Amino acid sequence: MSRKFDVVVIGAGPAGYVAAIRAAQHGLSTACIDAWQNPDGSTVFGGTCLNAGCIPSKALLESSELYHRAQQEFSAHGIGVGELALDLATMQARKASIVRDLSGGIGALFKANGVTGLFGHGRLLPDQKVQYTPHAGEPELLEAEHVVLATGSTPVELSAALFDGERIVDSQGALEFDAVPQRLGVIGAGVIGLELGSVWQRLGAEVTIVEAMDQFLFMADAQIAREAQRQFKKQGLDIRLGAMVRATEITDAGVILKYDDEQGGHEITVDKVIVAVGRRPATGNLLDPLAGVDVSERGFVEVDSECRTTALNVWAVGDVVRGPMLAHKGSEEGVMVADLIAGDVTEVNYDVIPSVIYTAPEIAWVGKTEEELKKAGVAFKSGTFNFAASGRAKAMDQDAGLVKIVASATTDRILGVHICGPMAGELIGEGVLAMEFQASTEDLQRTIHGHPTLTEAVHEAALAVDRRAIHAINR
Ligand code: FAD
Ligand code: NAD
Repeated sequence: MSRKFDVVVIGAGPAGYVAAIRAAQHGLSTACIDAWQNPDGSTVFGGTCLNAGCIPSKALLESSELYHRAQQEFSAHGIGVGELALDLATMQARKASIVRDLSGGIGALFKANGVTGLFGHGRLLPDQKVQYTPHAGEPELLEAEHVVLATGSTPVELSAALFDGERIVDSQGALEFDAVPQRLGVIGAGVIGLELGSVWQRLGAEVTIVEAMDQFLFMADAQIAREAQRQFKKQGLDIRLGAMVRATEITDAGVILKYDDEQGGHEITVDKVIVAVGRRPATGNLLDPLAGVDVSERGFVEVDSECRTTALNVWAVGDVVRGPMLAHKGSEEGVMVADLIAGDVTEVNYDVIPSVIYTAPEIAWVGKTEEELKKAGVAFKSGTFNFAASGRAKAMDQDAGLVKIVASATTDRILGVHICGPMAGELIGEGVLAMEFQASTEDLQRTIHGHPTLTEAVHEAALAVDRRAIHAINR
């Protein structure tokens, strides 16, 4: 006999596990199936984000940042640390323990909320039936009123640089190095390339990033991207733009990375290569052809604005559907779908999804860039404030970068907030909240910000929109 549930979720990353917990909170009987297996064969919930993405990368970013600051900045504070030592094994063990704690926590949350967690593979059959195949065991048929697909994404592989798991690796491999490579090549100056390139550069690697586009961080506001590029260059990150990788060759001397740019063909020799050229939706062996779920040309499960697929009562959320591949975007879609299944009226505000790049300085933004507004012909005004004039940033010795706010020239409504600077990922929360509540720059101008805090830079940028900044010369 088959087991019956109100909701079966396939995939327990931040999109799927959140959908499952929320559905159970609505009193719906819910199962969540996940196929993740660690290299040692152990099974955990949490998906890419907890096990090989957001969390382990941030753990290493934090450790490498502390190491770098101890090396480069402590002496200016009058702090001597003697001879600095790097114990990479301990750093990696700390990262693994954070991952273990958090992914173990999902199992506990499932239990507490009454979600039936299942380890193994899920496949959607017609009529909201799911074939569940445990890692070791016989397939079982699950019946559901609703099915939520949340199978995430996997790294794109380049034919010119095939993964060998040793010298040429994906982001997961790049989080597991047991020694700092002397020379590191990174293909792709996107989010992963910059974050993981920074980790290994701070720990001592000589890092070269090869990027196909000739514009740096094309998705960010151009002024912010220029500032970030300047800071990374100062730190010694060698970023080569307009560079298409043609081939890689593994030799005794290292990996020869061959690329072409405007000037012609080039070669660099490195010890390891990280390929970070994007991720693709994971739908392999997920959909029975008769299940009625359409998939786009690029492999994404087709959904409407409420994450309904083309099959009745089958939904899809997270990296496997259109939109930015971000954990918080997937989680909010998970919440929305569970609420819709329970009969609530709800939506995701796709216009107000923050992006954060956890480099130093951090880069964060929400809403429209100046370039997007110009292209759309929207009349706008903008203001900036440099962290160089922020007392808190100075005290932190992290005064590079700026806050920029763009707002409607006619209504004063905030249309975008863009930050390159210390704790930008935390500061952007104020911009997100302001935009969610449709605030004007005057609302931010009249809001009291604590002194001395980094948030004062957001306040001053809002004032600067109307040329009323106090701690900057208004031009
Ligand atoms: P996933 O997290 O990929 O989870 C999908 C799960 O489904 C996996 O466990 C998978 O094994 C399972 N699965 C797949 N197919 C099946 C099947 N047929 N049956 C059963 N289970 C299946 N995003 C951020 O917002 N902030 C960050 O700082 C950030 N850092 C990142 C760093 C790195 C190095 C990487 C690689 C990504 C990072 N991301 C970050 C992106 C983030 O990890 C993804 O956007 C997020 O994990 C997507 O969530 P998801 O639930 O859609 O998919
Ligand atoms: P990405 O899309 O951010 O960047 C890929 C980069 O590779 C692009 O700049 C692209 O132009 C370049 N590229 C593509 N093909 C190339 C080639 N042949 N040669 C050289 N360059 C090439 O993708 P990513 O960095 O792999 O990250 C994947 C996803 O994971 C992203 O969508 C991102 O949102 C998510 N992620 C988010 C965070 C975060 O939120 N902090 C961190 C890591 C990853």
